[in-house]
Amino acid sequence: MNKNSGKKLFVISGSSGVGKGTVLKEFLKRNPSFMLSISCTTRNPREGEIDGVNYFFLTREEFKKCIDENKFLEWAEFAGNYYGTKKKYINQCLEEGKDIILEIETKGALQVKKQMPEAVLIFIAPPSLETLEARLRGRHTEDEATIQKRLSEVKAELELAKQYDYRVINDSLQTAVEELEKIITGEQ
Ligand code: ADP
Ligand code: 5GP
Repeated sequence: MNKNSGKKLFVISGSSGVGKGTVLKEFLKRNPSFMLSISCTTRNPREGEIDGVNYFFLTREEFKKCIDENKFLEWAEFAGNYYGTKKKYINQCLEEGKDIILEIETKGALQVKKQMPEAVLIFIAPPSLETLEARLRGRHTEDEATIQKRLSEVKAELELAKQYDYRVINDSLQTAVEELEKIITGEQ
């Protein structure tokens, strides 16, 4: 993998509601040569999400078949659903010389690092746990049970984040985007 292009893979993680999507949207607006990998998931689409754009939405059976057929570069269970990145998709992007960013959770990110040590792992942290919960609730996209499941992942995520290459605190959005840009530019 990644033999021809010499491109680095950037992997962004952070607890649910920290603002990964918001930071990345702004980053991509300012850096249009980058593309965000489209993952597979078994969770239901949120309002406005489109299959093949935000995610490839799969049934659990379809997802398990892909696991059995060894189609994932990495996959993990998060808050009751499966999420994974297809090998074929990433290989194709790297061969085409695309600058690619994966936005995935911590267990999957560390699987990527094991297989591709040149991958750069960046963890987006909240200014406080209270802010994280307020943002997750304020988004109004999950019911209470789902919010609780997501919050119960935070401690383990912060522990795994110690193995990351960089940490960016998303307090001011502008500052977080600039820090991310600095890291990515410095690594290229
Ligand atoms: P994630 O992708 O990490 O789950 P989102 O990008 O959906 O998180 O952000 C969760 C909520 O927090 C959204 O309502 C978003 O508008 C808000 N948010 C994100 N970044 C900031 C920030 N720097 N300051 C204040 N609110 C933010
Ligand atoms: P959400 O359901 O909020 O879109 O995503 C939940 C979590 O799954 C987030 O931490 C997100 O980064 C992660 N995630 C999204 N796609 C993937 C993937 O392909 N692999 C892994 N391991 N995690 C993913």
